Amino acid sequence: MSSKPQTVLVVEDEASIASFVAAYLKNAGYAVRTTASGVEALKLVASEKPALVVLDLMLPDIDGVEVCKRIRQTTDLPVLMLTARDEDVDKIIGLEVGADDYMTKPFNPRELVARVRAILRRATTEREKGESATLQHGDLTIDAGRREARVGDQEIQLAPKEFDLLWELLDHRGLVLTRDQLLERVWGYTFAGDTRTVDVHVRQLRRKLGDASPIVTVWGVGYKVSPAREQQSA
Ligand code: CA
Repeated sequence: MSSKPQTVLVVEDEASIASFVAAYLKNAGYAVRTTASGVEALKLVASEKPALVVLDLMLPDIDGVEVCKRIRQTTDLPVLMLTARDEDVDKIIGLEVGADDYMTKPFNPRELVARVRAILRRATTEREKGESATLQHGDLTIDAGRREARVGDQEIQLAPKEFDLLWELLDHRGLVLTRDQLLERVWGYTFAGDTRTVDVHVRQLRRKLGDASPIVTVWGVGYKVSPAREQQSA
């Protein structure tokens, strides 16, 4: 069994941030590649096969959103996005982009390492599970093996974490899952982290699933899927 360290690709044009992020990740046992360029990042994703990408939103050539979209066209490689502004969050997690998580600058590098570790641990267990199960709720079907969601005959494109979140909620239908529980189950955080990422992903799921969305908000607590559809589709 190989004990080769996993490689994290850090894409950031601010040299001071790139170097402290790299230092903390190396210290945590990861191999690190850094680049300041989005174009170079895409090449490194193909050649170095990193286990995770830490991706800054603002880059001098192609921006982080475009880099993430292009990564998503070929792979579910986890992407942790860095952004300077809160208002970018919906876009980052959102529709076409599909980052797994984000951090707003300035951030605590220890927290960044904790998130990287959590995301990678989660990604590894997912692969080992070799899931072949399907869950159904009304017109909605989700297939863990193919990582596909459908409403009736129509396939709905979900980002990796949107899929995992929907799976977790459907798999526990009738039960309330708190934001912290969802953060732990879907993102793998064992500490109480920033739960806004859960809310942003739920919002995106609702947007994508429309009337077929089974997710119920339990105010002040978290989310659940009702055991049966509330409106009968006869
Ligand atoms: Ca930047």
